[in-house]
Amino acid sequence: MDYAFKLPVHQSTLSNHVLLGSAPSMSGFKSFALSPTLQKVLDELGYDVPTPIQVASLPLLLDNKDVIGQAKTGSGKTLAYALPIVQQIDLSHREPHALILCPTRELSQQVVRVLRTIARRHPGLAVLPLTGGEAIRGQIESLQRGVHALVGTPGRIRDHLERSTLKLNSLQTVVLDEADRMLDMGFQGDVEKILDALPKKRQTLFFSATFTDQINEMSQRHQINALKVGNERETKETNSIDQYFIESTKTDKIENLKNALSMYCEESAMVFCNFKASVAKVTETLREAGANVGCLHGDLDQFHRDQVLARFRNQSIRILIATDVAGRGIDIEEVDAVINFELPDKPEIYIHRIGRTGRAGHRGIALSIIDPKEQRKLKAIKDITKVPITPMPQKPSVLKPETAITRDAPMRTILISGGRKDKIRPGDVLGALTGKAGGLEGTDIGKIEIHDRLTYVAVRKEVSQRAEKGLNTERIKRKRFRATLILF
Ligand code: ADP
Ligand code: MG
Repeated sequence: MDYAFKLPVHQSTLSNHVLLGSAPSMSGFKSFALSPTLQKVLDELGYDVPTPIQVASLPLLLDNKDVIGQAKTGSGKTLAYALPIVQQIDLSHREPHALILCPTRELSQQVVRVLRTIARRHPGLAVLPLTGGEAIRGQIESLQRGVHALVGTPGRIRDHLERSTLKLNSLQTVVLDEADRMLDMGFQGDVEKILDALPKKRQTLFFSATFTDQINEMSQRHQINALKVGNERETKETNSIDQYFIESTKTDKIENLKNALSMYCEESAMVFCNFKASVAKVTETLREAGANVGCLHGDLDQFHRDQVLARFRNQSIRILIATDVAGRGIDIEEVDAVINFELPDKPEIYIHRIGRTGRAGHRGIALSIIDPKEQRKLKAIKDITKVPITPMPQKPSVLKPETAITRDAPMRTILISGGRKDKIRPGDVLGALTGKAGGLEGTDIGKIEIHDRLTYVAVRKEVSQRAEKGLNTERIKRKRFRATLILF
């Protein structure tokens, strides 16, 4: 079942996105079944008006339901799950009642601060951060003294479970905060191990800025009758793909492609060709024009194919040019735009191609560049898909320098010469990057993909050289691995 945000009537004509604290309300937090103590704390902290995600999720959370909560960053998700957690803690029982999993140490610390702040009138309520990069001994001592709530990163929590220094038999609530990012960073294995170790009778909450297929799958496996809370409008938009065509002569196709990319490739785009030779030509031309591109075709060996895909998925490559054969079965969640440099012969292939855009909270664009000979194919596609495909709107105002084709990708990829079979886990890579030699912040680090014998980690390009150096200096699992920044 899906719950949309319910907004005060006077707001509904404006937008589903209410600015925090902007909707005056008579009842504020009073309408929720929160204890007088917590009501008082909210008063003291000046939280007068609940945000939409709080309005929609608090009643369900207080009723012990499993929930998937989706709302953009800054919408107050922490307070939404922290209030019911603090309310349900029995202070006389010094065992972990709640566990909050976060992707990074910084985020864990933020959540600890929020919990401690709202627990200010619950004297003795103990909240413990359990993150990597800190001495495990001190953590074990704190655990032995007993705590009510734990906040930490999946790798370290799993370590404690495996060492039996952490017992979670009394756990009532587990939260995956920034679930989308946590899965992106490669923590799925650790998270699942932790969830499997928890009591069956518990409340499981996922909070995230986006709904993704991966989150839905996790929900199927680990939640019971989960309720989705999110922004209905945003969810509807995810399913829409605007489909356009551009008429072109065969020779002008590349120019039209550049133009289309400038207008519609905000972050990422996939360009499909029918032939290997076209892929080669388009790639070369765009590269000469200064674009950040990668290509996939049948001649690439498995290693290079995986590498290009990893770099495209982790935002180190903005534009991927591929044939259908090479692009088949590849795991790419969503791109801003799919561009058909050549139309496929079969309409089903067209539908398959454009399905890579317009997912997970983004609105998608499909563009087909057609020469006169391809008109017939376009008609066949229109007949089958029964959706309008219209001429591409010319929007010169969209041609901003920052979306121009030479715009660089935000991330770089580092290849590490060890993987799952070397017992490397995401927390190890994070630890090495944020350790002394690397000195990176959690926010500098993107997707971590661990394969059997190698690992790809994305880092912000500004810190990529420092990251490479750090990974070559720090040991991972007490071993030294080779780290190589991939430049092309
Ligand atoms: P999210 O996790 O959704 O990105 P946070 O939980 O970090 O967002 O909250 C963002 C900011 O909004 C924080 O500074 C928090 O104190 C503030 N905030 C949360 N709830 C409210 C509220 N009801 N009224 C005013 N500010 C709020
Ligand atoms: Mg948050």
